[in-house]
Amino acid sequence: MISIEDYLRLGYRGLVFLHREESEEKSGYQDEHTIHTLACYDKDGIPLKITMHWLECFRPNGGKRSCRIESKEIIGQGEYASLVKLYGVKDDSLYHQARAKKEKRKREADAKLIEMTPKCPICGNGMIIKHRNSDQKPFWSCVGFSKGKCRGSRSILKSDYSKLNRLLQIANQL
Ligand SMILES: [Zn+2]
Repeated sequence: MISIEDYLRLGYRGLVFLHREESEEKSGYQDEHTIHTLACYDKDGIPLKITMHWLECFRPNGGKRSCRIESKEIIGQGEYASLVKLYGVKDDSLYHQARAKKEKRKREADAKLIEMTPKCPICGNGMIIKHRNSDQKPFWSCVGFSKGKCRGSRSILKSDYSKLNRLLQIANQL
């Protein structure tokens, strides 16, 4: 799913979506193609009409997305303004307010997670949450465990675990 964030990351602003086309490859990994035509400002504040072709690949070891500009045309301020009137801007001030709020919540969750993460009782390094193979019970495991360096562990209180999960959910947003 291509989002507003994907365009903001590329440096586009004032996004006005004009047309959207989606298709999925029927065979193999079912990669998804999305073609958007939109009016927007580029990094230098020049109003453009662009057609962007996104490809999202889904693989067992993770996904990947890439994009290429299929066409790009500089338009006048007047044409841009009339498209805004017709279709509206997606990344308007309300969007940015909500985004700033989300970022603040994420920062707070990150800080709280660091605060709640104990140090390894054996080597003093950081710890991560893992689940026991036998019954999926969560516990803190030393970050050095997977490298075979340290087998330090600590238990996690049930009440802490639900709180940690909630914080992780917030921290992984955006
Ligand atoms: Zn350790």
